[in-house]
Amino acid sequence: MKKHLFLLFISFTLISCNQGTENTTPNSTDVESKKIYKWTMVTTWAKNFPGLGMAAENLSQYVNEMSNGRLQIKVYGQGELVPSFGVFDAVSQGNVELGHGASYYWTGKLKSSQFFTAVPFGLTAQEMNGWLHYGGGLELWEEAYAPFNLIPLAGGNTGVQMAGWFKKEINSLEDMRGLKMRIPGLAGEIFTRAGAEAVQLPGNEIFLSLQQGVIDAAEWVGPYNDLTFGLHQVAKYYYYPGWHEPGSTLEIIVNKEAFASLPADLQAIVRYAARAVNQEMLDEYTARNNQALRELVDKHNVELRKLPDDVLIKLRTISAEVLQEFIEGDEMAEKIYASYNKFKKEVTAYHEISEKAFIETRDLE
Ligand code: CA
Repeated sequence: MKKHLFLLFISFTLISCNQGTENTTPNSTDVESKKIYKWTMVTTWAKNFPGLGMAAENLSQYVNEMSNGRLQIKVYGQGELVPSFGVFDAVSQGNVELGHGASYYWTGKLKSSQFFTAVPFGLTAQEMNGWLHYGGGLELWEEAYAPFNLIPLAGGNTGVQMAGWFKKEINSLEDMRGLKMRIPGLAGEIFTRAGAEAVQLPGNEIFLSLQQGVIDAAEWVGPYNDLTFGLHQVAKYYYYPGWHEPGSTLEIIVNKEAFASLPADLQAIVRYAARAVNQEMLDEYTARNNQALRELVDKHNVELRKLPDDVLIKLRTISAEVLQEFIEGDEMAEKIYASYNKFKKEVTAYHEISEKAFIETRDLE
């Protein structure tokens, strides 16, 4: 009884102390805790685009809930405020506080940004998260983005993508010759060196280009997004695996001054909300890709095929050459690739006896 009374006394004392502070001269913490921040976020995706486009919406929702409305983020889709490829500059210049997209869109400004989205025959989603958060990857990303006034955070992952949609079967390296395929960036360069012809096209032009025969093949994301685009209506063969995008990481970019202007608790909320958003997207893709794949195969009679081994081996050999040429002479890219490769080598050895070995046991007969 005495103990209870004592605790009651303590809590009254604490409450009255707090009230005392509020009623007299408010200190800076009180002012900060009442201030409402209204931020703007631009993205490289269409508003509410399934999967990719939901990361910004989720970040806005989580931050709003966790901060009790003290940090409000209004999200704009591609073209609403700035075009897709204007996101980096808009956040860098402080015109808006936040952005969501894929770092490899910015390789024209910063070569090393390639390594924070996807590397052909590189890290999977699980491995990317390991490298970024426990293998020094995020620190390198921060260093690379610092001259642009940006703080990067991982902002989602698609998991292993698909190799893509093909109008005809690929049975050997020979079938790749002259094949026109929508496949962007470094992967496109690799594909072209393998005898095919890479075509650069935005996502929303894939369907029509395949339908009209402008291209013979196209990669987009995976079953969940590809089904939404209706790509099964214009190409019959669906090839795997996505050698070029084994665990594509998306990014959240924050303007450095805007971030610095937040009180510490809101800064922490932004960081933890981003971490949640990052995992959230992978969870969604993991669940929805299966459903979509079943629908594509069972309902739409899509022909599922694995790329032949000789094609994959050739693409892997060329990838190593292209990556080496790509980084040469760029100090930051060289440093990041070294860290990435070291992590990949080590984690591959471990995944041989863990993830890979385990998944294979499911098929043992
Ligand atoms: Ca893709």
